[in-house]
Amino acid sequence: MGKSRPAKPRKFGKGAYKCERCGGVGNLIRSHGLNLCRQCFREVAEKLGFKKLD
Ligand SMILES: [Zn+2]
Repeated sequence: MGKSRPAKPRKFGKGAYKCERCGGVGNLIRSHGLNLCRQCFREVAEKLGFKKLD
């Protein structure tokens, strides 16, 4: 068997999305057109004028 299989690009699951501010993964918030982790979202949201969404 010399068949090599190409790596599957993952579109879902872990690593699919990264925080576009710090590059971290996990607890990403992808609402309001943002891809931010929870921490960054809080900081950015304050600047953007969002109120606490919790
Ligand atoms: Zn972040």
